[in-house]
Amino acid sequence: TGPELFQPERPNSRGFDLRHQPTLDAIEAARSPFASHQWKAAPLIAGKANPNTPERVENPADPADTPGTVAWASKADIETALAAAAPWTARASERATILNRVADLYEENHGEIFAILHREAGKSIPDAVAELREAADFLRYYAANAPEADPVGIFTCISPWNFPLAIFTGQIAAALAAGNAVLSKPAEQTPLIAHFAITLMHRAGVPQTALQLLPGAGDVGAALTSDARVGGVAFTGSTDTALKIRSAMVKNLAPGAPLIAETGGMNAMIVDSTALPEQAVQAIVESAFQSAGQRCSALRCLYVQEDIAPHFTEMLTGAMDALSVGNPWLLSTDCGPVIDEEARVGIAAHIQTARAEGRLLHELKTPNAGTYIAPTLIRVNGIGDLEREIFGPVLHIASFKSGDLDRVIHAINATGYGLTFGLMTRIDDRVQHVTEAVHAGNIYVNRNQIGAIVGSQPFGGEGMSGTGPKAGGPHYLIRFTARTAPRKGE
Ligand code: GLU
Repeated sequence: TGPELFQPERPNSRGFDLRHQPTLDAIEAARSPFASHQWKAAPLIAGKANPNTPERVENPADPADTPGTVAWASKADIETALAAAAPWTARASERATILNRVADLYEENHGEIFAILHREAGKSIPDAVAELREAADFLRYYAANAPEADPVGIFTCISPWNFPLAIFTGQIAAALAAGNAVLSKPAEQTPLIAHFAITLMHRAGVPQTALQLLPGAGDVGAALTSDARVGGVAFTGSTDTALKIRSAMVKNLAPGAPLIAETGGMNAMIVDSTALPEQAVQAIVESAFQSAGQRCSALRCLYVQEDIAPHFTEMLTGAMDALSVGNPWLLSTDCGPVIDEEARVGIAAHIQTARAEGRLLHELKTPNAGTYIAPTLIRVNGIGDLEREIFGPVLHIASFKSGDLDRVIHAINATGYGLTFGLMTRIDDRVQHVTEAVHAGNIYVNRNQIGAIVGSQPFGGEGMSGTGPKAGGPHYLIRFTARTAPRKGE
């Protein structure tokens, strides 16, 4: 047993009470000045930038809207940024103060942040609020734990489009809290929010040489993970890309260079015949369809005990019928668009195969314009039938006989993934047995299986779902330092 890790007292962000009409009006008043604003994203590097010609950024909910343009980083920009990168040598307390100031600036600029999240990433009001809260929480949590300088050196942070502010900020905040120089490569679908956030970080006092932004596609990420000057990589995205990054790092980076990867999941939930059906249905709808199913944590395959399956499926499809699909900025909307046309086409093809095979159990109507996929329910024999993670609002359902519970657990573990898992039961022994037997990073009992909370529910998987340590937990920061174990008192 090592020395104890400390978690200082630090309240999470208060967020916004969306049941309170004056709060909603205030959010709308803060956001509306940016309803047709055009943002410009470009490399932010310490030196002269020579980016490529700007391209249009799209709004997934509305093909007629242009939220802005992005100028991708050129090869010359990558070289300039690598040469200029310098670890952040300020004392831990000063870095913490500045990171806390970033969190305050995020909250002060919530109107503009919500507008970008909405128009660039198709985020609904609750999702945009949750995203801002989580981003502020990451900043304050890592600031509170910032160690005295012992950085790895240059850290490349590659972040996904599904949490274009929260995960983007979490990686950067951890790397900066540990005193590293950060080279940030956000997802190519969401450069505008990344650019805005980095501007706020610089305004708060993070030095330009300690934090540089290189918007780009996979080629930029590849360049930033295969240069010997890079000391470590934080990555959230697909398992395939993580494996490529790992090979590039093994070939080109110093031996032992840390890779902190959070990747995909084939997340299951088991509902047995003792579960409270109303509670289970609500948790399932949230887990599978909130954020249009575009969370790594989202429920993909539901196992329902055979005895209750027909009635339960009827309740579930009834609850699906009550979901509203469309403009993410209406508070009445439950399911917004998927991120882009490529995503839509891939998910639609999966649904089409199920339809052709007679396995489509339920489907809602899809809006005409925008890249929408309506919530869909597909029958499978088990999670093993899924060839890949379907990153959208598509739920698969299987039934199991009560004597087959261990076979179900075996099938879930056999996927090799292990991110989230849900269990709905009122039998205590079963909770113990199943939660011990299933291999997953985050296990939830009698509740939904999304929405981990910084500081109280660290998030991360095992197996092909990620390397650990969990984000928002006490073991995360140490991987961003040159140390392998915490010092006494930390
Ligand atoms: N932390 C998020 C959650 O608990 C998921 C993060 C992700 O999708 O990558 O729902």
